[in-house]
Amino acid sequence: MNILDLSIEDIKDQLLKLNEKPFRAKQILEWIYKKNTLNFDQMTNLSISSKENLKKIFKITSINLKKIQGSSDKQTKKYLFKLEDGFLIESVLIISKNRRTICISSQVGCEIKCSFCASGKKGFFRNLSLSEIVEQILYIKKDINDSITNIVFMGMGEPLLNLENVVKAIKVISNENYLNISQRKITLSTSGIVEKINELKEKNLKINLVLSLHASNDEIRKKIMPIASNYKIKDLLSSLKEYFNTTKRDISFEYILIEDFNDSKKHALELVKLLRHFQCTINLIPYNPIESLSYKKPSFDRVREFKKVLDDNKIIVTQRYTKGDDISAACGQLAFKSQ
Ligand code: SAH
Repeated sequence: MNILDLSIEDIKDQLLKLNEKPFRAKQILEWIYKKNTLNFDQMTNLSISSKENLKKIFKITSINLKKIQGSSDKQTKKYLFKLEDGFLIESVLIISKNRRTICISSQVGCEIKCSFCASGKKGFFRNLSLSEIVEQILYIKKDINDSITNIVFMGMGEPLLNLENVVKAIKVISNENYLNISQRKITLSTSGIVEKINELKEKNLKINLVLSLHASNDEIRKKIMPIASNYKIKDLLSSLKEYFNTTKRDISFEYILIEDFNDSKKHALELVKLLRHFQCTINLIPYNPIESLSYKKPSFDRVREFKKVLDDNKIIVTQRYTKGDDISAACGQLAFKSQ
């Protein structure tokens, strides 16, 4: 069994069965999470017989790092992992100033099938386990031999459809005895599933929640996001308001800008009207090209004009600069690959 899928209590129980001392559990976890060791043989405070004993029932890694690609500006690195059943997933490291952010995947493929995104193009296969989510971080941390400051659930998959494992992963990531990255530095992006947002609220986490809004009204949203037929923007906004009231965390929206589709002044004004009474930030993401799709990224000037309308109307707006598109590591470009 993968030791990363177990709670410390479960590890202690297993150790007792092996006639090993339960306090070893803490030592092992320290090696894994604090000292970047993914191999029992390198845990020098364990005897040879203990190591052999542990190896009989535990493994530490179940995913295999297959390939690392760096972008030409050296600010982005894409990691390709092979899972035990042969599926391949990708994660991205983004370096900017003092931040080292990892964008992790939560599913193999995606069932949401937004028309502009590569992740769902080949369908949905399965959820990632707790260990498969956490190992992405452990491998990348080991590769750069440095601490990780931020985690974003913005890789492949819809994190709220793998809520149980994602919440467990958030606890491992934020626990001070494990990866010790504050929940305030963890962001989850969702396509917007009302019941799941409500369920997440009940978990009482302090993470940032971002909604992929991408449109100023339901009709436009339905054209690019099939999930918009199930949930109206109005209902999503009220579930987000409640989320905010409970968690006191800021709500943000992502808005993809696609040329001549949702990027006009009229759309910007409609967006202002929609969000006027909402304390929030809008993150504009100019569309990143996906092979075989005919959408276009708006010009620099058009993005600036759209942003200006929001600025002028006192909506807090940020713009996500495209990073790593030369290695297909930008938003929406992570795709499921079959070997
Ligand atoms: N399933 C989650 C996480 C997706 S990835 C969600 O839907 O929010 C993070 C962001 O990238 C989402 O807002 C997603 O809509 C956006 N995205 C997807 N494809 C894109 C593309 N081609 N260009 C720009 N952003 C894209």
